[in-house]
Amino acid sequence: MPRAPDAIVVGGGLIGCLAARALADDGRRVTLFEQGFELGRKASTAAAGMLSPQMEWAEDLLVEGAADLARRTDVMLDLGIAARARWPAFAAALEAETGRRLHYREEGTLVVALTDDEAAELEARARMQRRRGLRAEWLDPSRVRELEPGIAGSARGALHIPDDRQVDPLPLMAAVAEALAARPGVRIETGTTVRAIVSAGGRVTGVAIEGGARGEGGTAEAELVVLAAGAWSAGIDGLPRPLAVRPVKGQMAALRPGTMPIRHVVGGRGAYCVPRDDGRIVVGATVEQAGFDERVDPAAVEALIRAAAAAVPALADAPVESRWSGLRPGTADDLPVLGEDPELAGLLYATGHYRNGILLAPLTAEIVAALARAEHPPVDTAPFAPTRAGLQGPAYRE
Ligand SMILES: Cc1cc2nc3c(=O)[nH]c(=O)nc-3n(C[C@H](O)[C@H](O)[C@H](O)COP(=O)(O)OP(=O)(O)OC[C@H]3O[C@@H](n4cnc5c(N)ncnc54)[C@H](O)[C@@H]3O)c2cc1C
Repeated sequence: MPRAPDAIVVGGGLIGCLAARALADDGRRVTLFEQGFELGRKASTAAAGMLSPQMEWAEDLLVEGAADLARRTDVMLDLGIAARARWPAFAAALEAETGRRLHYREEGTLVVALTDDEAAELEARARMQRRRGLRAEWLDPSRVRELEPGIAGSARGALHIPDDRQVDPLPLMAAVAEALAARPGVRIETGTTVRAIVSAGGRVTGVAIEGGARGEGGTAEAELVVLAAGAWSAGIDGLPRPLAVRPVKGQMAALRPGTMPIRHVVGGRGAYCVPRDDGRIVVGATVEQAGFDERVDPAAVEALIRAAAAAVPALADAPVESRWSGLRPGTADDLPVLGEDPELAGLLYATGHYRNGILLAPLTAEIVAALARAEHPPVDTAPFAPTRAGLQGPAYRE
């Protein structure tokens, strides 16, 4: 029998894998359980890979169907800015470690206004961001055309956010999985579902598992358990209280225009467009409360493409290469769930990252590692506590 690990991570998406890597870097023996047969096949590779806290904050008013969900708070903007600041060093280190290119890009974002009302609103948001010391510039139509001639000539202007970034989630996840597998002290058990957190006397003692190398059932012991099961996090038994994390479906498409019409990530009403190094443009994303349904609806994707083409006309007749969907781990107040459980020692939450889990992953891993060392995390996690008032609602189970 192998010795019990020091820590167990539940879920092998980007969040779980980076948390496991950070714990291993502190010299811990870590076992990661993933119910799928590969790491990162859920939300983490469905994502667009925008590392764009300023666009998220500026764009809410333009995202159809998301206004009620996406109440961006200053707390979220601050968290996102802190997370974005980690990316240059994180991406460089991961590329150096694995020899893989992540296609991390720093051109920035343009949020396009197609009506005068949108222009006035975005201009106001640019001013608000500048007052917070962030770079955000309002471009009039002629400057938009100069910077990005592929944007519709009818655009009334655009908010330019030079510090937002992007990464391609597929090579990112491949590099992270490879780096994790190579870490001494890390054991990855795929095809293994964690059914419950097991505890005694107010302390975590391990997890109950099913499937994988251990057969039909059993327990694995550890004094630290990190819950990183994404949209499925609420379905795990043994939590001290129901966890109001819910799946929020997003559908996307990849288009391959003959020539690349844009360099920046372009956001606009109802859709965003992310140019990739390989000649594709990723268009996203719907925001749907559809339970755990992951089916792709071609009509919904078609509507997205039409919205994208209003901002970038070359996309109107670009061939569609692929369509897919993913389930974001959403919460009632759109904030992630981060921190230790106040009533169950040794249970750390790293879930509920909703639309920003790629952006937040390196910072989340730092937070998990700091809490595991019983140190102050690099940002205040109080607003993200599992017991906060805003985290109310039903627990969604598959
Ligand atoms: C369409 C779309 C576009 C997005 N775009 C962006 C973007 O541009 N920028 C950004 O920052 N974020 C984006 N996101 C959000 C981001 O993808 C997520 O917030 C992030 O991937 C969450 O990571 P995770 O590891 O928590 O979840 P996941 O990647 O879903 O991983 C959770 C893992 O846990 C496993 N699991 C679940 N239950 C169990 C169990 N009981 N036992 C064992 N394993 C279990 C699952 O199989 C899964 O592999 C997007 C998401 C979607 C869907």
